[in-house]
Amino acid sequence: MPAGSHRFRTETRRLLDIVVNSLYSHPDVFLRELVSNASDALDRLRFEALTDPGLAAGGSEPEILVRPDAASGTLTVSDNGIGMTADELSRNLGTIAGSGTGRFLEGADPASAPELIGRFGVGFYSAFMVAGRVEVVSRRAGSDEPAARWESDGRESFTVEEAERTGSGTDVILHLKDGMEEYLDPDRLGGIVRAYSDYLPHPVRLAMPDGPGGGALNSGTPLWLTPEKDVRDGGYEDFYRHLSGSPDEPFSHLSCHAEGAVEFHALLFIPSKRPFEALMPDWHPGIDLYSRRIRILQACPDLLPNWLRFVGGVVESPDLPLNISREMLQQSQASRTIGRALTRKVLDWLARLSGGDGDGYASFFTEFGDFLKEGLLSDAENRDEIATLLMTWTASDPDRPVLVKDLPSDGPGGGSLYYVTGPDRKSLAASPHLEAARRAGAEVLLLDGPLDGLIAPVLSSVLGRRLIALDREEADADLSDEEKRKRDEASARLSGLLEFMKDSLGGIVGDVRVSTRLDRSPCVVVPGRNDPGDAFRGMMKAMRREIDEVPGILEINPDHGLTRYMMELFETSRSDGRLARCVRLVHQTGLILAGSPPTDPASFAEDVSAAVLEGH
Ligand code: ADP
Ligand code: MG
Repeated sequence: MPAGSHRFRTETRRLLDIVVNSLYSHPDVFLRELVSNASDALDRLRFEALTDPGLAAGGSEPEILVRPDAASGTLTVSDNGIGMTADELSRNLGTIAGSGTGRFLEGADPASAPELIGRFGVGFYSAFMVAGRVEVVSRRAGSDEPAARWESDGRESFTVEEAERTGSGTDVILHLKDGMEEYLDPDRLGGIVRAYSDYLPHPVRLAMPDGPGGGALNSGTPLWLTPEKDVRDGGYEDFYRHLSGSPDEPFSHLSCHAEGAVEFHALLFIPSKRPFEALMPDWHPGIDLYSRRIRILQACPDLLPNWLRFVGGVVESPDLPLNISREMLQQSQASRTIGRALTRKVLDWLARLSGGDGDGYASFFTEFGDFLKEGLLSDAENRDEIATLLMTWTASDPDRPVLVKDLPSDGPGGGSLYYVTGPDRKSLAASPHLEAARRAGAEVLLLDGPLDGLIAPVLSSVLGRRLIALDREEADADLSDEEKRKRDEASARLSGLLEFMKDSLGGIVGDVRVSTRLDRSPCVVVPGRNDPGDAFRGMMKAMRREIDEVPGILEINPDHGLTRYMMELFETSRSDGRLARCVRLVHQTGLILAGSPPTDPASFAEDVSAAVLEGH
C-alpha cells in the first residue's frame, strides 16, 4: 500500500464504531490492550533474534514505556520490540485481520455483536475510546525501510507516511479527548498497569517528559510462575482476557507445576462459552509455549490431544529447546512427555470440576460436552476416564444433565440403561418410545448430540452396563420374562392380523410386530436392529457414500382400541378395503409418532378423509 491517505473499509468502520461505543465496559482497558500489544512485540523480537542474532545486536533491554505529557495532552505507549514497516502498519491497523471477520460483521446482529467481536484481534482500536486522534510511529527490526507514521481519527480514514525513529519498535501516541485527562495522572496509570498487566514478563515503566524512566510498575513475574496464593483477585481473569482476546471470564483455570521426568509450569484455561468459531474445523486456541521466559511457539495445537482443543493457556519448560519449530515439536521427546503429563493434569482437573456442586460443571458440559464425546471415541488411552466425565440429559429432567456414572443401577432395568436418540431432547422426552419405560419408572437417557448415536456402544462397554435403545426394534434380551410372556401371548392371538398387515404393506416395512413398550400410542415405526442408525447414516452422507435404506419395523400396541378394531375387521370383513386402509393409516401414524414424515402425504390425506367421512 503506498504512502498517503486511505479509507477504512466498511467493515472496519463498523467495527471501530462498536469497539469505541459498546465493546468494553470500561475505557481503562485501552491501556491493557496497548501494553499487551507492546509485550507481544517484545516477545516476537526475542523470538526472531534466536535465529537472527543481528536483530538483538543493537539491543537495549526490552521494555515498555508509558509516557504522559500534560503539555501536549498526549499519552504515549512505546516499546523497543519488533516494530512494523509502512506496509504492516496499514495492514495490521487499517484492516481487520481475518477475512472471515468482515463477512461475519456484515451479517452480525448489533445486539450480540460486541460480545463476539471481543474475540477478534481488535484491541488496538480501543485506543479510540480515549483518544480523538492516534499516531503510531514504528520501525521494523531488521528492515532497511525507514520508519513510518500511521495516523487516524478512527472514523473514516487513516494516513501513512515516512517518519523518523531511532531504533526498532513502536510508539503509540494518543491525543486524548477532552475529559480524558485522568489518563495523564501517573498514579492513575500505575494503578491500571498493576491492575491489568502485572503479570507481563517485560517491565512496564512510567516515563515523565523530562525525567528518566522510573522503576517497573508491574512485578514482572509471569503469572504461570507465580504461586496461586500470591495472585491478586481477578489476576487470572485478566490474564485470560489478555491471552484469549475475549472479554469474558474463563470458566475455570488450572495453575500447575511438574518436576521429575520433565519440568514445567502451566497455566491453563477453559472458556466459559464455546466460541462461535469453534464450529470451524481448524478452530484451535492452542497453548503458548515458553522456555526460559521466551515465548517459543504461539497457539501450539500439539501438546494436548485434539479433543482437548478447547483448553488454552501457557506452558513454560526449560526442557524445550529455544529454537523449536512446530514440526520439531511433534517429534520432540520432551514435548511428548510434557504433553502426557499435562493431559493427566487436565483430566484430574476435569474430574475435580465434575465433582463440584452447583450447576458449574453442567454448564461447562453443555458448552463443551461434544468435545468430551469426541475424546471418548478417539482417545483410547484415556477412554475410561473420559467416560466418567460425561453427562447426559434424561427424560425425568430434560433441562438438567447428570453424570452418566452416577445414574442409579438399581432401577427397574437392573444395571441396564435405556436411551433414545434424535436431534432434539425436548421432543425425545415426549416420544412414544418412552411410554413403557416411564410406566415402569425406569430412567431414559435422551441422546441428542451429533455424536451420541456413536457413543452409546462405547459407553456401554466402558461402563460395563447394557445400553438399550428404546427407539429400535425390541430384542428378546431387552425384555423381562413377564414382558416376553405377554408379548408372545398377544402375538399368538393377533398372528393372523399381523400377517395380513405385513402382506398388505408390502416391502415398505421390514416386519409387523407386537410391542410391549407402548402405553397410550397405538403404534410406532422403529428402525430394525441392523439399521446402522442416523448418526452413522449422517456420517456416511458427509463422506458421500451411499448406504441402503433399511425398512423399519411397525410395532403395534396389542391393547389399543385401534388394534382391537382392526382385529374385528380382520375377523368379519377383511377384504372390503376398510382394513387395508386402516393398516395404511396405522403405518403412517407410526412413522409420524417416530418423528418421520408420512411416506405419501397425498394418499395419507385421502385415507384420513375417507375414514372420517365413513365414520370410522
Ligand atoms: P491483536 O493484538 O489481537 O492481534 P490488535 O488490534 O491489538 O489485535 O493489534 C493488531 C495488530 O497490530 C497486531 O496483531 C500486531 O500485528 C500489530 N501491532 C499492534 N501493536 C503493535 C506493536 N506495539 N508492535 C508491533 N505490532 C503491533
Ligand atoms: Mg492486541
